Amino acid sequence: MVNSDQSTKTISLEKYGIKNAKVNYQLSPEQLQSRAVENGQGVETANNTLAVNTGEFTGRSPQDRFIVKDDITKDRVWWGDINIPFDSDKFQKLYDKVVDYLSEKEVYVRDSYACADEHYKLNIRVINEYPWSNMFAYNMFLRPTEDELRDFTPEWTVVNAPGFMADAEIDGTRQHNFAILDFTRKIALIGGTGYTGEIKKGIFSALNFILPVFKDTLPMHCSANVGKDGDTAIFFGLSGTGKTTLSTDANRSLIGDDEHGWTKENTVFNFEGGCYAKVINLSQEQEPEIYGAIKKGAILENVIIDDNGHVDFADTSITQNTRVSYPIYHIENIRQPSSGKNPKHIFFLTADAFGVLPPISKLTPSQAAYHFISGYTAKVAGTEAGVVEPQPSFSACFGAPFMPLHPTKYAEMLSKKMKDAGVNVWLVNTGWTGGPYGVGTRIKLKYTRAMINAVLNGHLGLYNYEDYHIHSVFGVAQPRRCPGVPTEVLSPRTTWNDDEAYYKMAFKLSNEFRNNFKQFESYASEEIRRGGPQRYAF
Ligand code: ATP
Ligand code: MN
Repeated sequence: MVNSDQSTKTISLEKYGIKNAKVNYQLSPEQLQSRAVENGQGVETANNTLAVNTGEFTGRSPQDRFIVKDDITKDRVWWGDINIPFDSDKFQKLYDKVVDYLSEKEVYVRDSYACADEHYKLNIRVINEYPWSNMFAYNMFLRPTEDELRDFTPEWTVVNAPGFMADAEIDGTRQHNFAILDFTRKIALIGGTGYTGEIKKGIFSALNFILPVFKDTLPMHCSANVGKDGDTAIFFGLSGTGKTTLSTDANRSLIGDDEHGWTKENTVFNFEGGCYAKVINLSQEQEPEIYGAIKKGAILENVIIDDNGHVDFADTSITQNTRVSYPIYHIENIRQPSSGKNPKHIFFLTADAFGVLPPISKLTPSQAAYHFISGYTAKVAGTEAGVVEPQPSFSACFGAPFMPLHPTKYAEMLSKKMKDAGVNVWLVNTGWTGGPYGVGTRIKLKYTRAMINAVLNGHLGLYNYEDYHIHSVFGVAQPRRCPGVPTEVLSPRTTWNDDEAYYKMAFKLSNEFRNNFKQFESYASEEIRRGGPQRYAF
């Protein structure tokens, strides 16, 4: 493990406009943890894991994410509610205020990089107001060796000042918090929020522009792992659908849990050096690898800890989005470096709270393109007692908030790559079975894992007509049998015990798909449009 405990290099931040700061350069995670505890910004759990509270924000704030509109971005970015333009002069003014705010303060600086593949490496300097945010950067970005640090030239800079509050009227933001990308200055400017996810997703968003535009590489919001035969699998999905959970598998080596690139050299590589797992209801029994990764070096966020230092993973009193970040080497079975060959199987994960989609089904190339552009999952509104209507949630490319270009750009690249690589694409519903949210239950993790293993071990080929059933509304191929999974679980209609109610809900969902797809209709080829549901309600 490379860390720079011994680093004696000091740096000045004057050129960034940060004056007379006390600069803590490249502190070790141990040092940063001690600082956080000394400052009263964190506590240590019974096994010495740092636990912090991220403050007002316990999740990202997509409405406060901006991109500076300049010569590089103006004709390339898909502007709108997702990619909100920000004026370049306003950026300069706000930047000046932020660096002024950081001046005279004690700050934490870390040199790191993104992209585990040598050819795509992006050097990043992270400047943090808080030590624990800097430790997050240690966990999540890739860690340069001592040699690499000696003549390190940062390309992008993250300036992270959670304590700085913008004045919306004057600064041009929506409210006091903001995350702004500037591709000319190569800066991610984050203020007013301590949520660490903004740091990693800031660089992710930058790469999602840089890689396809300048490097002919497809960036993907997915996890990835590799089997014993060197076969790569990738898992796309929106938040909470299971990317981290399902890619962390003792029998397959982990490439990464969230952000990857698929290159023209037919490789898949991780952008990051760590994982950021949800810990709500985490159990040692069901997710032993993630549970085991929560040790000294990891950072727990917004969890509740009792007097003995034990974490109550069921307690969501601060947020449902409790998290832990850890360097990837906290997982035993990992790929080094974090890359693999062309994927053999691609899984689209969706947590369908309507309970309509089969727990696993195979997609044709048309269906794969259609579902990728649609990016469906569902949100369950809160956890209050009583019946709550689930909300469909469509997010193009399974990650629209991080995709600066038009979704069809990514979809076209993916379709071509899938064709060239001859991959199989599977739709996996990690959500509800036996009825919608409130009636049915979430499908057992052990069944989802068994279905994925069956695919990866070649036991779910669907070569013969008798092996599968074509779903009458969505047109996807639903296997009739799967090792380790009770047969009735494979058919969502059967699990409902009420055909009429099932079809009513299925039509409701297919209509939602159709409404959402309208915005892409004029861009989509006949082939892609054919991949949509076969039937709709009248
Ligand atoms: P993010 O993009 O926010 O990191 P993610 O896709 O990585 O999200 P996970 O962190 O893997 O999502 O979250 C999936 C959650 O759902 C976990 O808390 C996991 O325990 C739970 N879960 C319950 N049942 C299943 C299932 N059948 N398959 C996958 N996950 C399940
Ligand atoms: Mn994840």
